[in-house]
Amino acid sequence: MREYSIAAIPADGIGPEVIAAGIRVLEALETRLGDVKFNFKSFDWGSNYYKKHGVMMPADGLKQLKPFDAIYFGAVGAPDVPDHITLWGLRLPICQGFDQYANVRPTKILPGIKSPLRDVGPGDLDWVIVRENSEGEYAGNGGRVHRGLPEEVATETSVFTRVGCERVLRFAFRLAQSRPRKHLTVSTKSNAQRHAMVMWDEIAEQVSKEFPDVTWDKTLVDAMTVRMTLNPKSLDTIVASNLQADILSDLAGALAGSLGVAPTANIDPERRYPSMFEPIHGSAFDITGKGIANPVASFWTAVQMLDHLGEQDGAARIMRAVEKVTGAGVLTPDVGGKNNTKDVTDAVIDAIHSSNL
Ligand code: NAD
Ligand code: MN
Repeated sequence: MREYSIAAIPADGIGPEVIAAGIRVLEALETRLGDVKFNFKSFDWGSNYYKKHGVMMPADGLKQLKPFDAIYFGAVGAPDVPDHITLWGLRLPICQGFDQYANVRPTKILPGIKSPLRDVGPGDLDWVIVRENSEGEYAGNGGRVHRGLPEEVATETSVFTRVGCERVLRFAFRLAQSRPRKHLTVSTKSNAQRHAMVMWDEIAEQVSKEFPDVTWDKTLVDAMTVRMTLNPKSLDTIVASNLQADILSDLAGALAGSLGVAPTANIDPERRYPSMFEPIHGSAFDITGKGIANPVASFWTAVQMLDHLGEQDGAARIMRAVEKVTGAGVLTPDVGGKNNTKDVTDAVIDAIHSSNL
């Protein structure tokens, strides 16, 4: 029996709804495969914890998470807690504390789901965005702090290190190399940001020499939004800085039909710490408690988690089950369907058990 310990942090809004659905699917996979076991431990950290204790997680939170094989994370954000507190109090300390410097965001159009782009269907848009996840614009060491004074000047300093750029670019080239098209697009803004982004371009040039079989090109981030919208087939693997890739991947999620299907993995490629797997979407207050959250992003990120743990067969089985279910039109309202979270989850579980999958 192969056993994995998984820390579940469902947190806020629809987080608990989609993580519970994901755990049901992983448990179905356990039953189906018979030789793998997931030991889940759930942590009640998040905005409700903050309202009771004044912090999003306990001071020794990272120490508690360190022994786990992976972290399965829902979403943070509550209407009555400022967003920078929820983000900087839980998600970012985990990403940064565990040096999960490669954030991997696959996007493709799933069967049965319509892209808002005209004449674009499954196969026309199949990307992986790699987001630098440890520094850059989210370095978090602003020089002058915002205090609300009338005469204030607030700064937000970005920090790009040669080591940080090099390791994420190398990760992205390696990922591009593992995909059929072997193509990488490096997104920067080196016309305006002439220090950090010019260094980023130079390092890309240098790292590319280690990957002679990977073709690559460069596009400025503003032009990237145009290219993604008008010429999605020209892209495959994409790498960008922390903030740029954050924005590009929301666009990617929307172009693939809904944020509700977009997953993300925060990876420590050196495996010194547990990596963290989560849907891209937030806590979605507008639909919390209605039972209609799309659980597909949380299933797809479970697929990423299994891949990372070395469970490729199980990962592929869940992905095939999800594609079978979306292709059969079992969909939540955000992607034009009439089903709820439970219908989609039950259908994916049935598909996992079916013998002809
Ligand atoms: P959001 O992703 O929560 O919601 C955006 C829109 O997409 C909403 O209309 C929502 O209903 C819809 N949506 C999102 N996920 C869905 C799903 N699984 N199924 C169906 N529809 C879905 O973004 P927002 O409204 O900008 O932010 C809400 C809160 O979430 C804020 O507090 C924000 O800070 C937080 N947030 C957290 C994360 C995170 O935890 N990683 C990411 C983004 C936003
Ligand atoms: Mn985002």
